[in-house]
Amino acid sequence: MKVLMNAGPWLPVPPRGYGGIENVVATLVPPLRELGVEVVLASVGTSALPVDELLSVYPDGQFGALQRPYNQVCGVAQAHLHGVVRALRERDDIDLVHDHVEAVGLATVAALGPDAPPALHTLHWDLAKHPDLYGGFDGGGRVRVNGVSASQLARAPEALRAHSVGHVHLATPLATGADRRPRPAKGGYLLILGRITPGKGQDLGARLAHQYGFDLILAGPVGPYRDPADLPSDADNPDARYFHEKVAPHVDGQRVRWIGTVHGQERDDLVAGAKAVLAPLRWEEPGGTFVVESLALGTPVVALARGCLPELVDDGHTGLLTDDEDELAELALAADKIDPADCMAEAARRFTPARMAMRYVELYSLIRDHVFMS
Ligand code: UDP
Repeated sequence: MKVLMNAGPWLPVPPRGYGGIENVVATLVPPLRELGVEVVLASVGTSALPVDELLSVYPDGQFGALQRPYNQVCGVAQAHLHGVVRALRERDDIDLVHDHVEAVGLATVAALGPDAPPALHTLHWDLAKHPDLYGGFDGGGRVRVNGVSASQLARAPEALRAHSVGHVHLATPLATGADRRPRPAKGGYLLILGRITPGKGQDLGARLAHQYGFDLILAGPVGPYRDPADLPSDADNPDARYFHEKVAPHVDGQRVRWIGTVHGQERDDLVAGAKAVLAPLRWEEPGGTFVVESLALGTPVVALARGCLPELVDDGHTGLLTDDEDELAELALAADKIDPADCMAEAARRFTPARMAMRYVELYSLIRDHVFMS
């Protein structure tokens, strides 16, 4: 089977440091190819993931454009997608499109017409607050949808759920233990790993760190800015405003530190050395790559029980969950009662790339052989 995997124009695959969708694609493609799936990757020119073929419109990632007005964001996505559509019209060797680009991607794939290959669109965001994003979607009869968690799918607009083929949890290569090497001993700090953005709740975590007296490291970009030194004090984008207004007042460089984006071994060691990864979520986390990565690195997850967290974290066994913000701080202080070995064993059982790839191959076959042949 030959699959066109559309990862969008935002970042190369694999991404350097932060990258949500691109990380998912980088995790999925190698085991898919091991299972015999040929992969044509639609991404940007700097993508270095080994694939059978790379299609690109933009030479490099357009991540910075995501902070521009919505119509400009759509313009970038559309230019990328027109390239994909052009390629699909010119060739007939693609059996299935696996699309990861939000609304615009789906609309474009749906508009390809009856001769286009069938498509699977993976939802990556929480869509409950964006019911219009996919308004009136009927998939043109060619598109099926999957979620990255049951909770995400349950919150998706009905128009999408009507075309759902289920959910597939995210995975991480760290879960295989192939890269197992001595990790740093657990330090005394807690870590929030992810974009600095209101949904991830860094402001709440930072406030609790001061109030309850624990050390907290914030790792991740603020909008397009990866390093603290690069962030202008007058940066005009929503995440920068959130950082300056709500998070920065708590960042004192001691109790609470923002270290910018981390990647590779530095990221893994930072996660492995944390007492716990903290998730003071203010949104319904849709898929939570950081959750499966933390467990794989033997670090329990202490979180507000929102979105996919109860599906991924076994409360009391691989992490601690609560609905209460103050109790979250108390649980953070008690995180060392979770055994890191239990976290790693659970990740090895549930969150390996091979397992994720097998689930996707099942969905590809279902779509190709049953949905569109019946
Ligand atoms: N990430 C990283 N370095 C950072 C912050 C995040 O490598 O400084 C990675 C993180 O390990 C995860 C991804 O970026 O693999 C974020 O995906 P997730 O699903 O956790 O969050 P999203 O941003 O997609 O909501």
